[in-house]
Parts: sequence; structure tokens; C-alpha cells
Amino acid sequence: MHKPSTHRCRTCGIPLPEGVNSPFSPFCSKRCRMVDLGRWFSGDYAISEEIPSDVEEDDPFSEADPRPE
Ligand SMILES: [Zn+2]
Repeated sequence: MHKPSTHRCRTCGIPLPEGVNSPFSPFCSKRCRMVDLGRWFSGDYAISEEIPSDVEEDDPFSEADPRPE
């Protein structure tokens, strides 16, 4: 069997690290995966890097981050 060529992120096109089983495959990151989803939801494949804020938003108060007292 021929080994498949290097996978590339479907969104940004960068080569994905070989041997690394990315949870976001076939994308390089969560961001790129969301971008691709956004294209489907918007029905416009022309969208580039515009991501709905409620998708990428990380609520700082929902995480156990140490606060200075
Ligand atoms: Zn990417």
C-alpha cells in the first residue's frame, strides 16, 4: 500500500503534522474547523476568516483561572 501524502488543513492549507492524530482532523485547529462550518452555515464559501464570536468565545469566568488577591 502506498502511504497517503501529507494531509493538509482544508481551511488554511497548511500541512498537518505527520503521525499526529489531531482531534480537529482534517483541520489543523478548532478555529479552522469552525471557519469551515461557518461556510456551510452561511451558505457562502467566500467567507474567509470571519468567525461568529459566540463560537470561539472563551468565557474567562467559566475556567478555574487563579486570580490575584
Ligand atoms: Zn488550518
